[in-house]
Order: sequence, then structure tokens, then C-alpha cells
Amino acid sequence: MKTVIIEIMDPNRLGELVTVSKKFCDTPDIIALGKGDLPGTFGKAFHTSETISANLVSDISELLKKEGYEIIIMSATTIGTGLAGPLAVRLSGSLISEVTGVLPDLVIERPLYGAKAVMQCKIEKKPLILTVRRKYFEKDMLEGTTETIELPGGPEKVILLAEKEEKQEGIPLEDADVIVTGGRGIGNAENFAMLQDVAAPLNGAVGASRGAVDEGWMPPTFQIGQTGKIVAPSVYFAVGVSGASQHLAGIANAKCVVAINKDEEANIFNRARFGIVMDYKKAVPALIDLLKKEV
Ligand SMILES: Cc1cc2nc3c(=O)[nH]c(=O)nc-3n(C[C@H](O)[C@H](O)[C@H](O)COP(=O)(O)OP(=O)(O)OC[C@H]3O[C@@H](n4cnc5c(N)ncnc54)[C@H](O)[C@@H]3O)c2cc1C
Repeated sequence: MKTVIIEIMDPNRLGELVTVSKKFCDTPDIIALGKGDLPGTFGKAFHTSETISANLVSDISELLKKEGYEIIIMSATTIGTGLAGPLAVRLSGSLISEVTGVLPDLVIERPLYGAKAVMQCKIEKKPLILTVRRKYFEKDMLEGTTETIELPGGPEKVILLAEKEEKQEGIPLEDADVIVTGGRGIGNAENFAMLQDVAAPLNGAVGASRGAVDEGWMPPTFQIGQTGKIVAPSVYFAVGVSGASQHLAGIANAKCVVAINKDEEANIFNRARFGIVMDYKKAVPALIDLLKKEV
């Protein structure tokens, strides 16, 4: 099937989308966004430095129509989510968002009810647009590089007045293999430093529940959950987090959850593989000491 990926030139994101694309074709085409060189081997490769969805929709939809793509794949990130809906309308296509699995025969899986259930669906009406959840698919090795054809920029609907780079030290939450998340139980902004001492030796990242974000202890970009980031680490520490369904929706694909909470009735223990019923102010320093000895 004629397949195209639309994505910024980030090797992690591209690697996962190439794996998805290979369920539909041997070599996908690509519309590569943003700055950088394009890693990997693609069929036709188009490029634009534009990354604002509203400015991309009309040019990209014309290109997609002209080329006659049947499958259009992007990540379920801000750009992908911003593009997918308008493209589906302009192309009179079908859209499945937050894809977590592609089975034979064009059967697509996505989570439902805050990831409490998985829906399998098959849609006949093409083009089929898929936004794919991060870290649900293995990364393709992206061998070689591909020359790109520059797309002419259309008139801008949204004009970028200023760019402020978000200060992000360490690994982005979506890519982290170990995440240490603090909730409202942490009590104040200063105590989040303690969580950094758990994350750092494990090469992990620190996250926050909405409770902690609402208190102003951590910026919203660190929020994990239904209205925050969807993450899928191998190990997820939830410290002083109650385990509300909206939080759990963001960690549905975390492999091993370790919960530290002083309330043994806290819902997070229903999701955890390992649970420590204790004041985190006692448990976390003990964990840090252990890591200093072992790692
Ligand atoms: C539409 C909508 C979307 C939402 N989206 C999100 C989302 O994306 N992400 C998200 O996280 N939430 C989200 N929420 C909010 C969610 O419902 C919860 O309110 C929130 O997750 C609670 O955060 P919390 O667990 O940190 O705080 P709390 O529920 O206040 O829990 C704090 C926990 O800390 C424990 N604790 C307290 N002191 C200590 C201590 N010293 N040691 C150990 N444990 C301690 C307590 O026992 C308690 O279990 C959303 C809600 C709505 C309505």
C-alpha cells in the first residue's frame, strides 16, 4: 500500500514510525519536518522546515492527494495530533488516533477508557490516517540517509513571533527508560530534588502528577497522565502519587511500577508490581543510599 510518514527528523520518532510503516509497505515515503538531516532509507522524501500544523495542512493535503497515499502515519504528538484531524477532513479519509498496535489485515489497536480497554478496529475508507503512540513499537535501525525534495512554503496562517526553547535537562520523559514521578504527597517543590537523586544514577527522568503540577511544584511539561505525557518506561517509580485513573492512563505501557505511598489503600498499589507502604521521606533516602552502593 502506498504509505507516507509525516514527522520531524528525530531518529527515535522516525525509527518507531518506520517500523509501523513496514506493516503496510516495504519502503515508505516521507514528509520530513523541521531542521536536520534525514536519517534512514525512504522512497520519495519531501522536506519543509515548517513545524506549525496550521501552516502545513493545506500544502501537505495537496501533496498527499497528488501522490495518492493510502496510509498516512505520524506520531501522536502535538504536531501529529494537530495535523491528523484537518488532513482527514480535507482528504475525506479515516483517522485512528493513539494507535498502539497494527495486526494483520489492517486491524488497528488503540486504547479506550483511559487505557482500561483496547479497541481493535478495521476501517475500509482510505486514505487511513494513523497517529501512533510513542514507545509502543520497536525502533527501526534507520540505515543510510535519503536526499530530500524541498516543499515550497505556502502563505503562513500562524506567524511565529518568538521561539523560547524549553529548558529540558537530561532525557525527555517520552524516551526515558526509568521515570521517578512525584505527586502531591511530596509536599513542596524543594523535595523534588530528592527524586532527581533516584533518577540520576539510573539514567532516568523525573516526572510529576497533576497534583504536583497544580501545586506549582513542577512545570506542566513534566505532567504525566491523560492530559499530560504518555510514557512507557521499563521502571516507573510513583512517589506520593494516589493513582487516579487519569494518572494511570499515562502509564498504561509502563512495564514495572514501583509505588511509595504512606496510605496502604492508595489506588496506585493496584497498578504497582512492587509497593512500599511508608513515608517517602524515609523510603527515598534509603533507596538513594542503596543506589549509591549498587550503581
Ligand atoms: C479531566 C482530568 C484530567 C486529568 N489529567 C491528569 C493527568 O494527566 N495526570 C494526573 O496525574 N492527574 C490528572 N488529573 C487529576 C487526577 O484526577 C488526580 O487529581 C491527580 O492525579 C492527583 O495527584 P496526586 O496523586 O499527586 O495527588 P493526591 O491525590 O492528593 O495524592 C497524594 C498521595 O500522596 C500520598 N502521600 C502524602 N504524603 C505522603 C508521604 N509523606 N509519603 C508517601 N506518600 C504520601 C497520599 O497518601 C496520597 O495517596 C486529571 C483530572 C481530570 C478531571
